[in-house]
Amino acid sequence: MGRAGSAVAARGRREAALPGYERLNADVPVLYAPRLAWKATEVGGYLAQGYRTLGQILSVEPPGIVAYLMAGEDWHRAPRDNARPYPPGLPYFTRSVEPPALVLPEKLSTVFWPRTAATLPLTVWHELAHAFLLGREVVRTPAWLREFVPQAASAAVARRVGLPLGEYLSRIDRDPGFTVRGFGGPAGAGDQMSFQNMLLLLGAAALEEFGEDFLRRTFYAIWEEEEIVDGERAEELLGDALGPGGREWLVSRPELQEEPL
Ligand SMILES: [Zn+2]
Repeated sequence: MGRAGSAVAARGRREAALPGYERLNADVPVLYAPRLAWKATEVGGYLAQGYRTLGQILSVEPPGIVAYLMAGEDWHRAPRDNARPYPPGLPYFTRSVEPPALVLPEKLSTVFWPRTAATLPLTVWHELAHAFLLGREVVRTPAWLREFVPQAASAAVARRVGLPLGEYLSRIDRDPGFTVRGFGGPAGAGDQMSFQNMLLLLGAAALEEFGEDFLRRTFYAIWEEEEIVDGERAEELLGDALGPGGREWLVSRPELQEEPL
């Protein structure tokens, strides 16, 4: 979830070899373990919704990608950027194969919280949004902006397709003891989830206040950046993308307050 994919695209690579895996053809084809056929259909539905909707919201040509729905026992064979397998149950996006891939576990890690009907679709759309953003070269940005973008995008998809987020948002811990601004570096899985959830709250609030057009502006603003984006620039960039009053609104948000000393 916090992994943005390797900065260096692995051109010339092929799809991962997963003998026995079946393929569900769609805009985002799903390669899946045969016993996960039902799950593949469910996930394929979320992918189709997210792919179409993000393409519309962002007015971009969607990236050519595939999804791997991995059986638990095959997790170590999933395509990835590093040699060692990632912790089980955490979806991610990787450009280590061609086409680039969303890797989805058969079961989400228990780290994913709150658990509601929205948890899985939000997670799928989050990874999909990473794939859209990384469809072009992207400079380094602070962790909060890098993860805010897919969180706000997944909330925007939920709005468009009529998936209510009320229950999910109401169950988020709004005071985990830190704010998103200083978050980065090694952190426990629980804090990672709190970080993501705060960004979802921020994204949902931004959509409420400014509508969804800021997302397209944010994607393009990030694509146009040529130097590493520091915290100050990240705030300016997002504040301006939000629209009139955006910068003031952003600094007023509890999620972005300075770290308590
Ligand atoms: Zn992420």
